[in-house]
Amino acid sequence: MAGTDILEWRRLARQRTPIHLILFVTDHCNARCGTCFYWRSLNQGNALGPEQVERIAGSFGELVWLDISGGEPFLRKDMAAICHCFARQNHARFINIPTNAIQTEVIARQASEILAGDYSFKLNIAVSLDGVGETHDRIRGVPGNYRRALATLAELRRLRASQPRLSLSVVTTLMRDNADDVKRLLDLARHEWDVDYHSINVLRGSPMDPGLQPPAAAQFAEIARLQLQHLRHYYRGRFGLLSGWMAVTGRALLNRYYLRELEGRPKDIACNAGRASCVIDANVDVYFCELLDKIGNLKDYDWDFARLWYDRPALELRRRVEGGCHCTHECFHTKNLILTPWRLL
Ligand code: SF4
Ligand code: SF4
Repeated sequence: MAGTDILEWRRLARQRTPIHLILFVTDHCNARCGTCFYWRSLNQGNALGPEQVERIAGSFGELVWLDISGGEPFLRKDMAAICHCFARQNHARFINIPTNAIQTEVIARQASEILAGDYSFKLNIAVSLDGVGETHDRIRGVPGNYRRALATLAELRRLRASQPRLSLSVVTTLMRDNADDVKRLLDLARHEWDVDYHSINVLRGSPMDPGLQPPAAAQFAEIARLQLQHLRHYYRGRFGLLSGWMAVTGRALLNRYYLRELEGRPKDIACNAGRASCVIDANVDVYFCELLDKIGNLKDYDWDFARLWYDRPALELRRRVEGGCHCTHECFHTKNLILTPWRLL
C-alpha cells in the first residue's frame, strides 16, 4: 500500500459509514474446518439475495476494502454481480475473497467474470492453506483439499498473467499443532506458488475443534520472524522504497502486539472496528467484528445502515470498545495499523 493510499483511507474514514466491510454472503460451506469460528452458523440456509446486496450497498458510502466471506463465497453463482454492485455503488477499491479453493474450475471462472467489465477495483483471492498435504486435509475435514487448493492456485496464476487487477495470496491459520507445517507453507508460497502475499492468522474465536489452541508465544515469535523475512520479498518492487520499509515496520509492530496477547499481557486499544470497519452476516445481523455481540439487524432498521450504526446498542458498544479492547483478529488489526498505528505501540 502506497503512502497516498493511506492518506485516502484516513480521509474517507471520516465519513459516517465504515470504509471496510466484511460481508458474509452465504452460510453454505463444503468444508468442515476444525479451525472454523463460524461453524455454529454454517449451512442453515441463509444467503443474501441479490436485492439485499443492492440494499446493503445502497446504505453505505464509499468502501475502500470489501471482504466477501461466508461459508464458501464461491458456492454462489453470482459473485461477479455482487462485486460489480459494490464497485458501482460504493467505488469499492479493493475486494478480497477468501476461499477454501475446493472448486477449482468454478473459482477460476467466477474470478474471470468478476474481473470482466469496465471496473478499476483490485481483486485478491486468498487461498486457505493450514498445512502441507494430508495435514491440511485433516484440518479442513476434506480429503484431497490440499491437492485441489494447489490446482486452484495454478488456474488463478494463469488468469493473473493476463489480469493485472488480480492478486493471489495464501492465508494460513497458525495454531499450536501446525507451526512446523506453517514454516514449510511460508517457503512453498514464496518459492513454488508465486503468490503476492502470505497472511498468517492466529487461531481465534471458539473453533469447531475445541482441542485446537492458539500458538504458544515462542512459536508465534519464530513464525513472525520468518514471515517478516518473506515479506521483504513480497513487498520488493511493489511499493517504493519508503512505503516498503513502512510496510515491513508496520508488520513488525503488529507482530509485537500479537505477541503480547499470546504472552498473556494484552494491550488494550481503541479499535477501529465499530467506526471504520464492520461485519454483516448472511442473516443481515450487523457486528463491529465477529468476536463481539451483534448490534442489530438491518431489517429492523428498514435497511438504513447509518440509523443502526448510530443507534443506542452501537453507541454503547462503541464506548466500551474505545475504552479498550484486544484480540488477534488480523482483518481488523491490519486496518488499525493503517489508520491509527500509534495505538498499537
Ligand atoms: S473456515 Fe471457512 S471454509 Fe472452513 S468450514 Fe468455516 S466457513 Fe467453511
Ligand atoms: S480489538 Fe478485536 S474484539 Fe475488540 S473490537 Fe477490535 S476486532 Fe473486535
